[in-house]
Amino acid sequence: MTSSLDQWRANARAAEETGRQVRRLYNIAYRVAPIGHLLASPDATTNDVAYATARIPRAVSAAARILALPGVADHAETPYARSFINAAERTLKGTSTRLLITANGARAAAAQAAHERDDLRSVLFTDIEQRCRNLVARPRDRRDRADREASDSVLALAAQWGLHHGGPGASNRAISGEPAVPHYVAHEVARRAEIRARCTAGIRCTRNACLEYGAVWAEDSTGAHVFLCLSCIPVENADRVARGFAPTIRPVPDGVPASARYVVFLYNGSGRGGEEVSCDTAQEAQFVAETMRPFNNTGHHIRVALAR
Ligand SMILES: [Zn+2]
Repeated sequence: MTSSLDQWRANARAAEETGRQVRRLYNIAYRVAPIGHLLASPDATTNDVAYATARIPRAVSAAARILALPGVADHAETPYARSFINAAERTLKGTSTRLLITANGARAAAAQAAHERDDLRSVLFTDIEQRCRNLVARPRDRRDRADREASDSVLALAAQWGLHHGGPGASNRAISGEPAVPHYVAHEVARRAEIRARCTAGIRCTRNACLEYGAVWAEDSTGAHVFLCLSCIPVENADRVARGFAPTIRPVPDGVPASARYVVFLYNGSGRGGEEVSCDTAQEAQFVAETMRPFNNTGHHIRVALAR
């Protein structure tokens, strides 16, 4: 009688201990689920991905240690907890993670290329980033063969250009030979080369009837500044006289100081919002004004910012 009571107590203690370990498993499962969801977001940043790729494997090994304890694997509530952990692990090893790592790498590389005025890489890497994020945004249950092929092809293109997804089986060396350039990227690069060529003359005259490149920085007696070409300054002054104002527009003496910067304000022509881009030269500012389109209807205004 005593021995069976002892046995009953031992069993109760064992069951209690198993229950405690299953609760630990649930704690891990509930913590890892939202971390796995980070990797399903098309906007996941480098930090998000780094956090998830560090945390999920740790959660998986902690779960494996708990599952190895007596009675835990067979416990009735264990499969539900495991489903969260398995889902996070599947996401980590899935294509979305590789696409996000590639997208974030492409974004950094595109910013670097834009800084170096490398139009080919800037356009190509921006395109790779967008394609990767669009694929991550596709609902998981609606991804089809075309999506898988599109993923393979953008990841292969990225690898050719030295952008590595760092996922399982990732190669860390660039593929030899001439890397591919998609036709529409080449087209956009050629368009930019044309724009760069015409921007070598400088900023465009702001008179709509003119729009000649190579405008000078002009001012009026109120201290307002405007970019006008030399032939438009007298025309603009005549307009002012006709409207009853003093014809005081003249080129700013000594022009734009070498230490000044050109600030391009890009505004939403049919909505709210705007952003500023600061440039070293008039050529770069005019190029930015003609190529950056953050809004559907982007308007621009270029001003000179004097060094303080
Ligand atoms: Zn003009």
